Amino acid sequence: MTRKTNFGAGPATLPAEVLQQLSAAMLSYGHTGLPLPELEHRGAPFAAILEECNALLRELCDIDNDYEVLWLHGGGRQQFCMVPQNFLTPHTTAAYIDSGYWAREAMQYAAYYGQSVTVASSADTAYDRLPEWPATLPLNTAYLHLTTNNTIYGTQWHTLPAATAPLVADMSSDILSRHHNYRQYALFYAAAQKNLGLPGVAVAVIHCDMLARANRNVPPLLSYAAQAREKSVVNTANVMGVYASLLMLRWTKERGIDAIEAENAQKAELLYNHLASSKLFQTRVAVAAHRSLMNVCFSATDTRHEKALLQLCEEHNMTGIKGHRSTGGFRVSLYNAVRLPDVQRLVTLMQQYEDSVQE
Ligand SMILES: *Cc1c(COP(=O)(O)O)cnc(C)c1O
Repeated sequence: MTRKTNFGAGPATLPAEVLQQLSAAMLSYGHTGLPLPELEHRGAPFAAILEECNALLRELCDIDNDYEVLWLHGGGRQQFCMVPQNFLTPHTTAAYIDSGYWAREAMQYAAYYGQSVTVASSADTAYDRLPEWPATLPLNTAYLHLTTNNTIYGTQWHTLPAATAPLVADMSSDILSRHHNYRQYALFYAAAQKNLGLPGVAVAVIHCDMLARANRNVPPLLSYAAQAREKSVVNTANVMGVYASLLMLRWTKERGIDAIEAENAQKAELLYNHLASSKLFQTRVAVAAHRSLMNVCFSATDTRHEKALLQLCEEHNMTGIKGHRSTGGFRVSLYNAVRLPDVQRLVTLMQQYEDSVQE
C-alpha cells in the first residue's frame, strides 16, 4: 500500500529514512547480534545511544553542559506531573500561562501537588490569540510555565518577554523547529512524538541551578535529580524509543536548523496565504503575529465544505487534517518531517476544490 501523507498532530509523520533505519535495527542492532528491543538498558551500546542523543540535543539547542538532558517515560503528561512534583513546595506557587488545551492541562495536573495558578489566559477569546504576558507573578513563584506552541489552537510564542521567575516550557510541538533561545529556560521538555520520534518518550532539559532546587522526597523514577544521577536509567529504559529519537536527532542535524526553519516558514506561509485568499476556509487565529508555523488551524464557512475537503484529502492519500475534537474544523500539522511538496499538494487540492465549488 502506498504511504499516506500524514498531517496529523501526533503521533506525527516520520522521515522514510528514519523508519528504514529503525526497522533494520529492530532485527539486529549494529554489531550486537541482538534485536533493538532486546538491547540491555544498562549495557554499553545503549549508553552510547544516550550519550550521542545528549550531545546532539545540546548542539542543536546551543546549550552547554550546565544543562542536564534526560530521556524519560510517559510522554508530555508525565512531565506535567514531574515538574510540580520536583519543584512545587508547600510554601511556593506554580504560575501557569493558559494559552490553550495543553497549557491548561499542565496547570490542572500541577494542582494535584500544590498551589497552581493561572497568571494569564486567552480563554475569553477562545484561544484565538496568545494571552498578554503576565505583568506580575505571585510572591514565592516556584516557576512560570508556558507552552511554546499551542498544538490544538494553532498559536505559537515567537518571542518571549523576560520572566521574573524560572521559566519552564512545554516544547512538545515545536522543539527543534526553528532557531530559538533555549537558554532562557530553567527547564524545557517535549513529548517525542512530534519532532523527536515515538510516543511514550519525553526529553527534559534542566539547568543545573534549577536541578539543585528540586525536592528531595520524590520517588527515583519521577525525580529529575535521581534520573540525572542514573543517566536516565532508573528503571528499564525505553531503548527503542530513545533510539528512534537518536535517528531523528541525526536527521535534524543533517538537514540543519537553518534549512528546517526556512522550510517550516515556507510551508506555513503557503498555507496561510492560501487561507487569506480563500472564500471557503478561514484561519482560526485572529492575530497574525501569534500564528503557529507548526499547526495551522482553520475552519470552513459551511460544514458541507468541511466534510467535502476531509473526504477529498483521504481520496488523495492525505490524512490527519481533522481538527481536535475540542475545536472541530481543520488542523494541518507541519512538523519538520512534513515537506514542502506535501503542503503544495494539499494547497493545490484545496484550490481545485474551491474552483469546482465556485463554478
Ligand atoms: C502532544 C502534546 C502533549 C501531550 O503529550 P502526551 O505524550 O500525549 O502526554 C503535551 N503538550 C503539548 C504542547 C503537545 O503538543
